Amino acid sequence: MSAAEVRSLLCAAADVSDQARDVLLKLYDPTGEALLPIGANIPPNTNADGEQYRLVIKRANYVPQRPQEVKQVVEELNAVAAVVQNVKQIKQRVDDIKQEASEIQHGGLAHTPADDISSHAQTRPAIRRVRQVANLGIEAPLVHNFPPEVTENLKHPTFDVWQWEDSEMVGLVEQMFQEFGLIDEFNIEREKLHRFLQCARSSYNKNPFHNFRHCFCVTQMMYGLLHVTGVHEKLNKMEKLVLLTACIGHDLDHPGFNNAYQINANTELALIYNDVSPLENHHAAVLFTILKSPETNILANLSDADYKEVRKQIIQCILATDMAKHGDILARFKQYSEAGFNFEDPAQRQLLLQVITKCSDISNEVRPKEVSEPWVDSLLEEFFTQSDVEKAQGLPTAPFMDRQKVTKASAQVGFIGFVMIPLFELVAKVLPNMEEPVIQPIRKALDYYKGLLEKQSS
Ligand SMILES: [Zn+2]
Repeated sequence: MSAAEVRSLLCAAADVSDQARDVLLKLYDPTGEALLPIGANIPPNTNADGEQYRLVIKRANYVPQRPQEVKQVVEELNAVAAVVQNVKQIKQRVDDIKQEASEIQHGGLAHTPADDISSHAQTRPAIRRVRQVANLGIEAPLVHNFPPEVTENLKHPTFDVWQWEDSEMVGLVEQMFQEFGLIDEFNIEREKLHRFLQCARSSYNKNPFHNFRHCFCVTQMMYGLLHVTGVHEKLNKMEKLVLLTACIGHDLDHPGFNNAYQINANTELALIYNDVSPLENHHAAVLFTILKSPETNILANLSDADYKEVRKQIIQCILATDMAKHGDILARFKQYSEAGFNFEDPAQRQLLLQVITKCSDISNEVRPKEVSEPWVDSLLEEFFTQSDVEKAQGLPTAPFMDRQKVTKASAQVGFIGFVMIPLFELVAKVLPNMEEPVIQPIRKALDYYKGLLEKQSS
């Protein structure tokens, strides 16, 4: 049925003429809270008792006498317009996803033995794009001459991440390789490093949140944390290479929809990785696909044994960013910390690298408010889009992603209080000098959002 036919049907049920252009139809889900799009995508509810939709009819040309009523009608009209807009966006996203699925079907599965998962994975559009970029060569100047105050600020969590173009962020990451002495130690050709970073950059999607600037933020925060805590002096060059490369690769080709969506929608990624951290596994796989190409393989001059070790630890760090593992990682790190963290123990050092990657990934609130606040809007935008798509597809939704249930303040108070502070306070027991440059800004952010929340509820 077309949307017009569905509308006609609903009009007939409500005994109003579907020719009347001033009739507004609103269809609510069984909870009575969410508006449903009137069209071909209404999820079926025929078989469930007590799961009926509620249809509300309004006359748009009704002229109310009192200002309060005018306001109410205008608000309702605006709500309808917003729903129409949302439905359009959702439809576009669904079409995009279908398009991607069909590309996979035609580009990969049709010509690939079904049991050959690795060649199947390599035919995914993202990985095809990686290959094309690897052949592009150099598109931006190889050497950026950043003034000394920039390279100094780069070592601090207060660094302003918003004022740089993509090519400049690539240059700043090159600066980190240089400063850590990794270029000489691992015999990395500068052009290759540049090509690797360009390639990684273009393998990030233009999501509201999970984009290349987020990748840069995470990498820069890791670099900043290492410097303010002085732990960079305790880590060897291989561990710094692991951290830098893991941060650069940690969200590669993120589709803007989280693991819960991948699993519930039974996407290609969930299928390939059997519902186990589909996104994080994919990020790591894209990273090592880039590194497989000789043009972009910055690890080419490592010995076989070193490569194996570096690869293992990079994968560990990227997989550790799945928040489903948060409790487990925190508990293990807590055990080490309570027994007195032992830098001589390889297992403890490896876990430390994973924890530093995790901290960096969720570190926006360590930054000054002007720098961090726009990220909250971006993340909510990404969440809301996912939640809208889930509703349209009849999939389960999470309350923290629902535009009708979450505000910026409520989201932040919960996340900072229950996730960030326990993590960073634990890390502060192992790494020195966290209080002033790292923990205090987080507490300040918590106070700010608590204030905002109080203002909202009063
Ligand atoms: Zn991330």
